[in-house]
Amino acid sequence: MNNAELIEKIKKIRCAIRYHRDQVEDDRCWLDDYLVWAELPDSPPPRNLTLQQKLLKCEIFYANRRADEPDPRSEQAILDPALWDRDLEKMSLIELAQTKATLLFVVGYHRDLEEVERRARTIKDDRDLYSIALPEKIPADFRLPPRDEFLGRAKSGAGCPNFWDSHEHCGRECNLYEWGPCK
Ligand SMILES: [Zn+2]
Repeated sequence: MNNAELIEKIKKIRCAIRYHRDQVEDDRCWLDDYLVWAELPDSPPPRNLTLQQKLLKCEIFYANRRADEPDPRSEQAILDPALWDRDLEKMSLIELAQTKATLLFVVGYHRDLEEVERRARTIKDDRDLYSIALPEKIPADFRLPPRDEFLGRAKSGAGCPNFWDSHEHCGRECNLYEWGPCK
């Protein structure tokens, strides 16, 4: 890989992690993990889970990936998105290769930690992913809607059960990153 190819791959991985970080409220979902993990060469797509398994993942997500307050902004935060990948411009080939290797390692750790460490993935793991992978140190907001709105049907057009229902009759072209039904 030359410099340009390494920069392109690094930006692609960072972009997936930024999307993960920047989801708010009802849009935060365990499915976003798969978009990040897809940057690894050996990640399976979200498997064909049963509705019950999906809802269990939603429950586990709510229990472990939620905070009462948004994270505070760091002193070192880079606020202008145009500057977020500036660091790459000054890097040598070796430094770019190291940066890419670090990114792949932290993404792999985020994916595999539940098996390796035999514990649930938490917002601390998400924060570690963001802070190691991204130079801008922009805070995430892990707040989620009230339990009955997120995990239940208290609000129409929101919540996990309504979301999965909306995709119930989709075919092969189903896009789980939008509400269904998919055409
Ligand atoms: Zn669908």
